[in-house]
Amino acid sequence: MNDKSIKEKVIDKCKELGIPFVGFAPVERWSKPPKELPNNFNEWIPEEFWPNSIYPDAKTVIVIGLPVQLPIVETAPSIYYHEHYKTVNILLDTKAYEISNFLTEMGYPSIYLPRDGYGDIDILLKNPITFFSHKHAAFLAGMGSFGENNVLLTKEYGPRVRFTSIFTTTPIEGDNVTGVDLCKHCQRCVSQCPVNAIHESKGSKEFPLPMDKIGCATRSKELRKKYTSPCGICIKICPIGNDRNKFNRKDLSIYSDKNGTKYNKAWDHVKKYGSN
Ligand code: SF4
Ligand code: SF4
Repeated sequence: MNDKSIKEKVIDKCKELGIPFVGFAPVERWSKPPKELPNNFNEWIPEEFWPNSIYPDAKTVIVIGLPVQLPIVETAPSIYYHEHYKTVNILLDTKAYEISNFLTEMGYPSIYLPRDGYGDIDILLKNPITFFSHKHAAFLAGMGSFGENNVLLTKEYGPRVRFTSIFTTTPIEGDNVTGVDLCKHCQRCVSQCPVNAIHESKGSKEFPLPMDKIGCATRSKELRKKYTSPCGICIKICPIGNDRNKFNRKDLSIYSDKNGTKYNKAWDHVKKYGSN
């Protein structure tokens, strides 16, 4: 069996499992990043966060992604988005577990990573970084580019995709990295963040942009007490993603119009029940 056929089998397995996004990044991309990356990094991923620092036998990182549904995110912060987020997270972990077992059974030992690598927001408040970044893995697998909101933007769903990763010991051909910056630099995420956690880029193409991760995590902690975390605002208002066409949400003024539109009424209704 050659490398390509393993890749095709994984893609087929993802189709069977209902996974719309899958990407492949050879582990060398962490030590020798492709030239075509869409964002310029002023500080590259430290070696302790590379795949081989976590699973020394890994040859390829397989990244899978599941979308969050825009009309549900629009109710955020709410119990509705809170529950949706939990469901997507459980599905991600389950599907990644199945893919890693599928590969291991074929003779290619593989392990999956949890979609989140922290126990509680209090941990993030002390140290707002996890042991592996799926966003960066998706980036290195050519699945998108970073937005000013520090989230990976995809063509199909903008920032409304959750990712996780599988480390496999078999070499698999990596996907192309196109170098296309999907962010429109519209600054909507900057201006609409309720705690000013996202700082204006002022035209800088350097990445990561300065961000108040503690401020964002503090808001998340407050929302968690009310059963309405995560915040989701910079996710819902981002104009990127074909899901806006699918859900007929090209008009972004619905997010700033407070004059009792049918959408505002629906969101207000959801927010009134089931959480504090
Ligand atoms: S809201 Fe605008 S600036 Fe922020 S990530 Fe999306 S496109 Fe980029
Ligand atoms: S999740 Fe909320 S608090 Fe955090 S950066 Fe986005 S808008 Fe700001």
